[in-house]
Amino acid sequence: MTQTIAVIRGDGIGPEIMDATLHVLDQLNLGLSYDFVDAGLVAYEKHGELLPAATLAAISKHRIALKSPLTTPVGEGFSSINVELRKRFDLYANVRPAISFPNTKSRYEAIDLITVRENTEGAYIGEGQSLSADGETALLTQKITRKGSERIVRYAFDLARKVGRKKVTIVHKANILKSTSGLFLKVAREVAAQYPDIQCNEMIVDNTCMQLVMKPEQFDVIVTTNLFGDIISDLCAGLVGGLGLAPGANIGTDAAIFEAVHGSAPDIAGKGIANPCALLLGAGQMLDHLGKVDEARRLRNAIVQTLQAKDNLTPDLGGQGTTMSFAAAIASRL
Ligand code: NAD
Repeated sequence: MTQTIAVIRGDGIGPEIMDATLHVLDQLNLGLSYDFVDAGLVAYEKHGELLPAATLAAISKHRIALKSPLTTPVGEGFSSINVELRKRFDLYANVRPAISFPNTKSRYEAIDLITVRENTEGAYIGEGQSLSADGETALLTQKITRKGSERIVRYAFDLARKVGRKKVTIVHKANILKSTSGLFLKVAREVAAQYPDIQCNEMIVDNTCMQLVMKPEQFDVIVTTNLFGDIISDLCAGLVGGLGLAPGANIGTDAAIFEAVHGSAPDIAGKGIANPCALLLGAGQMLDHLGKVDEARRLRNAIVQTLQAKDNLTPDLGGQGTTMSFAAAIASRL
């Protein structure tokens, strides 16, 4: 049966890495068809709206979207469409694997960990933000709920069981943020007690950052709240050679959106040199989610072999390849 997915080509390097990714996916003969829809700046230019109803309808209908990065203005202008999509579809679990790949610029070897970040609550709720009239004082409200904490921690433990992981680390700041992080930790401990087969430990977020840099091999699955997870997962991407290799899945009960962790990289947009691997690995997470686990494995193996052979690597990986020649090299190894 043909499965249709919504495809958002994004802006900046988005269209370049999406074309490369779809080229590789097409070689896998997945029986996928694509419903191209717009979001963000491109949508605004074409339709006068940042998130058109047709885009929301396509994601609701197909329940799966593959999305390239979308630009968000810093400090002013419209709020993040990425955050808005996560909210609209209640995509509560942001799953970001960080895996060592050959021939990447990294000081570490054999890192294989997954950050599971709560994606809808915490400091990113977008409500309760204010700036005093004199511009001297800003306030932010954080929201943590029992329900939100329970479902994300359960997701992390279920994922650990499903993919054969041994340990979950609960990351918090309950020593200082006693109400919000305190509630998350309390609920996390209750959920952890229901998974006696999975080891569990707790770590304060600042110590976690140091431990990740000093001894990353001690981590397997990390589960944490929204802001901490956002930062930690980028740190983890840095451990394995940068954002060009870090994918992320945004998973809810009724829909899921798969993407690269990196942004629209305006500094290299239009040059045809962006690394397509992060979005390709995001597509791999999508294939796992669709139950096409053999094809996902073939895709990841082809990426590893291409990196091993240093075949047409993009400049961020020290090569002279282009987005498309790198993708073609990967496709040839499927
Ligand atoms: P960025 O991730 O776009 O770029 C950071 C650095 O990494 C840049 O030097 C860039 O050239 C490089 N880089 C990123 N992806 C690369 C790739 N695939 N290949 C080679 N090099 C790559 O981060 P930024 O500059 O802070 O953000 C730019 C825009 O992207 C902002 O508007 C931000 O809001 C947005 N953003 C979107 C998403 C998303 O859509 N999920 C995520 C993060 C940032």
